[in-house]
Amino acid sequence: MGTTYFIGGIHPPENKITAGCPIETFPVPAKVLLPLSQHIGAPCEALVKAGDMVEVGQKIAQGRGYVSAPVHASVSGQVKSIEPYLHPIGRQVSSIVIETDTNQPQEWANSAIPLLKLLSKDTAALRDQVQDAGIVGLGGATFPTHVKLNPPVAKPVDTLLINGAECEPYLTADHRMMMEHPQELVSGIQLLAHILGISQAYIGIEENKPDAIAALREAATKIEAKGLTINVVKLRVRYPQGSEKHLIQTILDRQVPPPPGLPMDVGVVVQNVGTVYAVYEALSLGKPLIERTVTVTGSGVRQPKNLKVRLGTQVSELLDFCDWDSEGAGKIILGGPMMGMAQYTPQLPVIKGTSGVLVQTRAEVNTAGYRDCVRCGKCVEVCPMFLMPQTLSIYAERGMFKEAEEYGLTDCILCGCCSYVCPAKRPIVQMVGLLRSLKAAAKAKG
Ligand code: SF4
Ligand code: SF4
Repeated sequence: MGTTYFIGGIHPPENKITAGCPIETFPVPAKVLLPLSQHIGAPCEALVKAGDMVEVGQKIAQGRGYVSAPVHASVSGQVKSIEPYLHPIGRQVSSIVIETDTNQPQEWANSAIPLLKLLSKDTAALRDQVQDAGIVGLGGATFPTHVKLNPPVAKPVDTLLINGAECEPYLTADHRMMMEHPQELVSGIQLLAHILGISQAYIGIEENKPDAIAALREAATKIEAKGLTINVVKLRVRYPQGSEKHLIQTILDRQVPPPPGLPMDVGVVVQNVGTVYAVYEALSLGKPLIERTVTVTGSGVRQPKNLKVRLGTQVSELLDFCDWDSEGAGKIILGGPMMGMAQYTPQLPVIKGTSGVLVQTRAEVNTAGYRDCVRCGKCVEVCPMFLMPQTLSIYAERGMFKEAEEYGLTDCILCGCCSYVCPAKRPIVQMVGLLRSLKAAAKAKG
């Protein structure tokens, strides 16, 4: 039995149907669409214009503020246009369109800098390299990684926590990454620990991935960084185990304060497995973030796969590659079924935060609508944040900001446990998410 301390949560069917599928490299697409907004923070500004020739890995967009991450060309080719294009957040975002040419150099292969050499480098320079590589949290949060690696002096950090829980049903990209690249991940952890100046790291993995646990335990015996310990912790399978707050509570028994509280308030930096790998590649190979692993899965896909995909590739191309049933598809979700975002078309790009593409069939999708709350209390029982989701959803439905805030609008982690168990099929998490977006938009307008 693994470790778990948090109360609430659920155990939905795992449906990890791609767990046994090795990561395949998706072919370089004929065209990529790279939105200027792929991180939390202000959008980037383009550094190129229509007609420019670009090399793979070239920086093509840059943010103005510190909380931003540049965008790099994921292919070599010609910039055809910079125009609004549909973004996974559901609206049009200015995007750089690159038409691929036949020259696609692989300059990052076989050129790794030895780990010990990197571990002797200045930490600020390494952090700048992470920033320059455009790395963000690849678990879906897309917070710029270099910011997390630079905690304020008043908030000293003593622990690095690696999130390998992958508690969302269906998704297996992190699982495969841990099985196929354990040594690179352990190198990445050593580099992150060096930058943060800490000596203790943990990797939390749910116990339904025993092969990944074994691979990382084996790799963690070969640490080169002096004084660092890396502990691989087996976790009980419980959604949302991979939420930062719950992971910290489970492994370290520390409580992150309510918003705006952050993990660094309790001395912790949390990084996702995919992010660690991206940091390893950036520092040891000099490779910016131009691709990521994506799980393409669900009953509406005949050949589900884990794919290494160039950013900006159209989701429709991945679905065709995996032989999807476009006629029978009921819903396309980017991410997992619990926290992912439903899309009305596959004509949109894979971005830094795209961990999966899930296709549900029509039979799996609830089209009956929702009913009034029957006050059964099931949502309260499962809420891992101890909120009253039914009351919160009613306030959210009526647009009552102040009252919703009193009932934990900002505390909600949008995990979806409440919606999952609701017998009235109330879209509680969607209502809360919508109210939060409206609030953010109102704040932005002033
Ligand atoms: S109210 Fe928020 S935190 Fe609580 S179960 Fe629902 S989505 Fe999760
Ligand atoms: S689970 Fe649904 S029906 Fe039951 S109390 Fe919560 S919102 Fe109401």
